[in-house]
Amino acid sequence: MRSAKIVLCILSVIGPGAPLAVNAQRSSRPATAKNHRTTAQQSAGSPAKPKRIVIAAGVMLDGTGKVLRNTRIVIEGSKIVAVDPKAGPVDYDLGGLTVLPGWIDAHAHVTWSFGKDGKNAGAGVTTPEAAYAAAANAWVTLMAGFTTVQSVGSPTDIPLRDAIAKGLIPGPRILTAVEPLAGRGAETGTPDEIRAFVRKQKQAGADVIKIFASQSIRQGGAMTLSQEQLNAACDEAKRQGLRTVVHAYKDAVRAATLAGCTQIEHGTMATDDDLKLMSEKGTYLDPQAGLVIENYLLNKEKYLGTPGYTEEGFAAMERVLSLNHELVRRAAKTRGLKIVFGTDAVAGAHGRNAEEFIDRVRDGGVDPMAAMNSANSLGAEALGMSSQIGTIAPGLEADIIALDGDPLKDITAVRRVVFVMKGGVVYKNSARRSSDIR
Ligand SMILES: [Zn+2]
Repeated sequence: MRSAKIVLCILSVIGPGAPLAVNAQRSSRPATAKNHRTTAQQSAGSPAKPKRIVIAAGVMLDGTGKVLRNTRIVIEGSKIVAVDPKAGPVDYDLGGLTVLPGWIDAHAHVTWSFGKDGKNAGAGVTTPEAAYAAAANAWVTLMAGFTTVQSVGSPTDIPLRDAIAKGLIPGPRILTAVEPLAGRGAETGTPDEIRAFVRKQKQAGADVIKIFASQSIRQGGAMTLSQEQLNAACDEAKRQGLRTVVHAYKDAVRAATLAGCTQIEHGTMATDDDLKLMSEKGTYLDPQAGLVIENYLLNKEKYLGTPGYTEEGFAAMERVLSLNHELVRRAAKTRGLKIVFGTDAVAGAHGRNAEEFIDRVRDGGVDPMAAMNSANSLGAEALGMSSQIGTIAPGLEADIIALDGDPLKDITAVRRVVFVMKGGVVYKNSARRSSDIR
């Protein structure tokens, strides 16, 4: 496929040596807003002071649990420089809306899309269509209020991550695991071989290491790595300065916690004792209360018959949905357990990531403020990025969104994202203010 190679080449020239996705974006792209003072960016090489933007917020959730009323956020360049109710003049009046930090999705598969035949194409496709689909996934994710996503992962994430980080295409900041370590029992390798695999991912540009320590829940969810293998993977990642996120069900939850891994994904069928141990060790939990399975069921025809998706698997998923609600309920009641927000968004779910908030609050009994924080300050902490994102405070990246409604009173307000700023650049402003309608 010659054309496929061309697209990949275009994308890959910006790959090696590109700054990590965590770096501030420098883009001169005009924003879609009507407002004139939209972009905060300097043109390259210009010594001029970065442009100043003031946002007036009716209600502001700062990302850590604090609520401020009638305040103003001052942005210079890509950063927040002050929260000051007296600042002016106001460039964006978001009175009547709920303003909060851009959300963080700790678990997405941003390159997964449906192929030309309408069927699930998974992550490994490198056609031009798949590249555009991945770019479109990134766009709709950003428009839904997610300014950072952790992809866990695919080698095709790298050119997408780097293109967005350079401001060449719009999308959330992406962190990627590149190629995950797929547990296959003894076949996975010796502890030394596993350590070498971890180092290889770091060399390939990984921001995090993803480990599969359990089978898919569609196949029963049994452990696929020994304690010794898990210890090697998570210890080596730590030595390399990388975090580890571990796909784990049942017994694998405890094993990954004991191995000192950073975060458990899914966690279905973890016992109360397992959750308690995680809380004691400070291991993050990223459970899914609904969206991922709801999306599979909604798009069943598109997944059925593609690798890993059988009728039996779908029957298992229907059973798991209630187990996941129950897990989220127990987790929310476990003292000190750090629950972060991750959707496991695959093809069909991109841009609908916020549905998981509704599932967690409605079906998992999660407090709405805790749900918001899980995708803000706590989500940032789990990524080791608290000093950059997740809170509206001076010195942090200006990742700011606004909802038409109050998610603390009506969690479905998360569906109504009307304003999106990332790194000081406004990408969406559909708030209809009286001042706009002259
Ligand atoms: Zn996943």
